[in-house]
Amino acid sequence: MTQSKGSDAPVFAMRLSLWTGVAMLLAKSGAWLLTGSSAIFSDALESVIHLAAVAFASFSLWLSRRPANERFHYGYERITFFSAGFEGALIAAAAVAIIVTAIYKWMQGLQLEALGLGALITLAAGLLNGGLGWYLIRTGRRNNSIILVANGKHVFTDCWTSLGVIVGLVLVMITGWKPFDPICAIVMAANILWSGGVLMWTSARGLLDYADPETERLLRARLDALVVELGVEYHEFRLRETGGRVLVELHLLFPDSLPIGQAHATATQLESELAACLDRPVEIITHLEGKEDHEERHPGRR
Ligand SMILES: [Zn+2]
Ligand SMILES: [Zn+2]
Repeated sequence: MTQSKGSDAPVFAMRLSLWTGVAMLLAKSGAWLLTGSSAIFSDALESVIHLAAVAFASFSLWLSRRPANERFHYGYERITFFSAGFEGALIAAAAVAIIVTAIYKWMQGLQLEALGLGALITLAAGLLNGGLGWYLIRTGRRNNSIILVANGKHVFTDCWTSLGVIVGLVLVMITGWKPFDPICAIVMAANILWSGGVLMWTSARGLLDYADPETERLLRARLDALVVELGVEYHEFRLRETGGRVLVELHLLFPDSLPIGQAHATATQLESELAACLDRPVEIITHLEGKEDHEERHPGRR
């Protein structure tokens, strides 16, 4: 079994995300104080939650990279699913708060000023988030880090949110009809709610040991070829993912007369060749069985 700590690129990317989050919060709060815009307020409020989410994601990334020990035999990678779900829940909560605030402000009577400056600050924040989101998703995919990809998607959502704010402000400036501001805030909140929901769903699926069909297809295709090549049979194939590694279990059938040493050598070869078909760490456990008495020993398990 090999334990790799992985590259430092994800840690750097996460730190960058955290500090950008701090800068965003300051810029967006400033823009809100200047304008009184509902849409910008919603953007600033999201930044507060954003920072909490990124801080937790950053902690989870650190934890997930710790090696396995005598009490956590499979390491800490599963925290990644929890982290993605937590981030999703926070995003969804922000969306609800945005909708409530926008409606409340609308009912109170809308007061807006310095919209041009507010729009410019928001545009700068949006572009910065767009670049950061792209970088996080790319680094996350290259390093198989679900935490980074989740964070990148979140940052990308924020970029769209900022663009939505700008559309609202520009519409108000052109038409003079102020409700465009809360309307845009609500539309963006719906989008934020959706992306939060997707993150929570991804997280729940991961915690329930969801077997990704594409991963299964790749593994089974390679396995079907390998068993023919090595002259064995298999059944009880199962796979699950920890957030960093793919764990595979299967039973291999050998003739009773084959010495255990030879059967083990074949199984080991199959394990290492099968593991090589994915571009991320795979751990395979095989259970060796005699072909002749399998039915008798494990009735009904085929
Ligand atoms: Zn955010
Ligand atoms: Zn079996």
